[in-house]
Amino acid sequence: MGKREAEHIDFDAVMKSLQSEKRGEADPELSPEENLGSAKKEVSQAARKRASKLSDPRNGYVYSTKERIIHDRTCKRVSGISDDCFEMSKKLIPGMPLCNLCRRKAWIRLGMGDDTKFINAYDRFFREAYVSNDLLQRLFVDNDVKVKIQDITHMTFDVNGERWMWERVDKKVVLYHNSYEISDVGTRVMRKSFHKQKETPISAQSAANKMLNYTWDRSHQSNDNMR
Ligand SMILES: [Zn+2]
Repeated sequence: MGKREAEHIDFDAVMKSLQSEKRGEADPELSPEENLGSAKKEVSQAARKRASKLSDPRNGYVYSTKERIIHDRTCKRVSGISDDCFEMSKKLIPGMPLCNLCRRKAWIRLGMGDDTKFINAYDRFFREAYVSNDLLQRLFVDNDVKVKIQDITHMTFDVNGERWMWERVDKKVVLYHNSYEISDVGTRVMRKSFHKQKETPISAQSAANKMLNYTWDRSHQSNDNMR
């Protein structure tokens, strides 16, 4: 008896305990692996959806379905939105507040059409022309003005069927209007050139007022010779 038996029994017990431990460990090990695998799959699927939404440049705006604050897609806060709450929109969403960090770009984006990769140039132009937040909102949200940057100091504005151009001079702008001729039947024929509305630079606010308040009537003379 004694030793051998005891050794034998111990050995059995150790084997059993090892086997049960193995079984015991194996299951919890397997399921986390499986869970981890499916979690990884879910995450990558959400990340893929995010990437697919981001790949469409018409999706200009981002929001988290949890926070309900809308951002311009270039906002640095966008990286803080997790993949599973990540949503994009082609338009601003009525009633959804704008992020205070990127609201200028969000408004500018409304006016710049397909030129989206140059948004920083537009942003710089408006900052250097001292265009306020209120004015950006008035132009692009309230009046649906469309803009196109020509170079770092020139931008064209389409406002109620009229085309204008701003030439940025220091913190002001020189306002140009699309040149036109009057046809025999009294209608305007637009030309590709522009003429100065005023020699001296004016504030962006005044230029915007002139554009937004402008209406053409037939008593206007041809401006063909003005420039
Ligand atoms: Zn933002």
